Amino acid sequence: MINVSEIKKGIVLDHICQGQGYEIFKVLHLHEVEDVVVLLQSIPSEKLGRKDLIKIETDLPLDLTVLGLMGPGITVNYIEEGERVHKKKLSLPRTVEGILSCKNPRCITLAEKIHQGSFYLAKEEMKLYRCGYCDAAVSL
Ligand SMILES: [Zn+2]
Repeated sequence: MINVSEIKKGIVLDHICQGQGYEIFKVLHLHEVEDVVVLLQSIPSEKLGRKDLIKIETDLPLDLTVLGLMGPGITVNYIEEGERVHKKKLSLPRTVEGILSCKNPRCITLAEKIHQGSFYLAKEEMKLYRCGYCDAAVSL
């Protein structure tokens, strides 16, 4: 029986939008982790109505840029000896290297196959980024 109510050491991703937990689970390759990982879906939440939550019982380097892009608003809790030692609320990253790709077919990043295109956050409320080379808009 896995105790899902608390973990001794690891990471808890809280305040994931309902229905997004599984997507994040896949993007973070949590199915490849050999330690205990628990995905909880549709938990009642005061803030969100319902939310998803992921508990990872191990130290894992998480890509917070990718996570922030997917789920601004997610809270990352780092747990040691059963206590929360650090908490980080994610927001959209100001700049993103790679990950996104430019939508402008004439952009130099596509022509020269630069895979590390650079994008900056243009309008946070619209989740809108712009290409650092040609300024074309990329919305999430
Ligand atoms: Zn571009």
